[in-house]
Amino acid sequence: MNVLLLGSGGREHAMAWSIAESSKLNNLYIAPGNPGTGEVGTNVDLSFSDFQQIRDFIQEKSVDLTVVGPEKPLVNGIVDFLEENGHPVFGPSKYAAQLEGSKKFANEFMKQNRIPTAEFETYTRSQFDQALQVIKAKDEYPVVLKADGLAGGKGVFICETEEEVVKRLDELKENEKFEDAAQTLVVEEFMEGQEASVFVISDGQTAKILHYAQDHKRIGDGDTGLNTGGMGAYCPTPVIGNKMLQRVEKEIILPTISAMLLDDNPYKGILYCGLMITDDGPKVVEFNCRLGDPECQAILPSLESDFLELIYAAATESLDQKEVRIDDLYRCCVVLASDGYPVEYEKGKEITGIDDVSDALVFHAGTKSQNDKIYTDGGRVLSVVGQGESLKQAINNTYEEVEKISFENKYFRSDIGAKGLVYFDH
Ligand code: ATP
Repeated sequence: MNVLLLGSGGREHAMAWSIAESSKLNNLYIAPGNPGTGEVGTNVDLSFSDFQQIRDFIQEKSVDLTVVGPEKPLVNGIVDFLEENGHPVFGPSKYAAQLEGSKKFANEFMKQNRIPTAEFETYTRSQFDQALQVIKAKDEYPVVLKADGLAGGKGVFICETEEEVVKRLDELKENEKFEDAAQTLVVEEFMEGQEASVFVISDGQTAKILHYAQDHKRIGDGDTGLNTGGMGAYCPTPVIGNKMLQRVEKEIILPTISAMLLDDNPYKGILYCGLMITDDGPKVVEFNCRLGDPECQAILPSLESDFLELIYAAATESLDQKEVRIDDLYRCCVVLASDGYPVEYEKGKEITGIDDVSDALVFHAGTKSQNDKIYTDGGRVLSVVGQGESLKQAINNTYEEVEKISFENKYFRSDIGAKGLVYFDH
């Protein structure tokens, strides 16, 4: 099989690595890829936004399956475009991708289908004052303000006071970066609990759980500081036990997949369920329409089934014939970032020691290769994924390997997985 994978982050390196393990693979192309994906396939210079260029490439190279890593091309309709032209794609349609692309759409969909989530209200841009009045009258804090559209994780504010609500509403209205995303405002009830993510693969009719993980979004240890794209993850997470997983399947996954199917908009691809495990059970914080970064880097090495066979089956509506097998190890993924991320950071620092890592996988993200050397080229630079029979072992093994990699201004959280350790006796 010839495969084209779109993307360039740590997630896409992990996906490329996993696809490259398959005996069904002939050629793997990654657009645009990174130095890591270049080691397991061929990087090609294509732009995600130029669908026609991608289609020409698919025809030229006889690509059998296109796999979309990031959300933007999905929300912009790449799947519809390629499928209309007869090319199998792994990912949801533009309509289905609204589950991630519009928080209003997702919340209304969940309400209609009785899928547990936060209470919410939506307001247009001209109604922001009205939103403030309603929040003031309720006087319940914290309250969550969300820009409706994609804002790279920066359009969500958890406000503790009325003053903060006023400040954030102004920011959503005035700041240019929210011009598109904050045409509509979603105000949500704050849900108390532990967060976890369940990853589902679906062909539109059949849905199967791939695995479940816990992400670490904040830049600092102890979940402090600014939100980032994700500083680390581990799986499986004890936040979700067997019974809770069954509830997630029954109360969230199956109703979502069947409602989309009944609506004539079958959901194909990855459904990422970002959950809050509350005292009342699991509730959806967000849906995403692709694998998470960095959860993907921890999850895919756990997969014993052939990843390429699974995603091809999902793209061609034959997932019922496949089995998802996961090994019984824990995995921990630590992101190495450039100090200063997610705000300002330097690039172009030489990275050494990757080849000394012997007991973990290293996935590239913000790196570039020059004269046979690797340099930093982004905020999140590398992810290191170790494993162990216990979560503690996986964490210890990973941090031992993290020490072997050096670059100037290297920054990482030192507590990835610690939130999970509290569930075990020591
Ligand atoms: P963007 O759309 O800007 O990329 P996002 O999709 O990452 O943002 P969410 O996942 O909806 O945004 O929210 C980000 C984080 O805020 C969540 O991971 C969670 O920690 C917190 N959060 C969001 N909504 C709620 C809520 N209703 N109650 C409690 N915490 C919440």
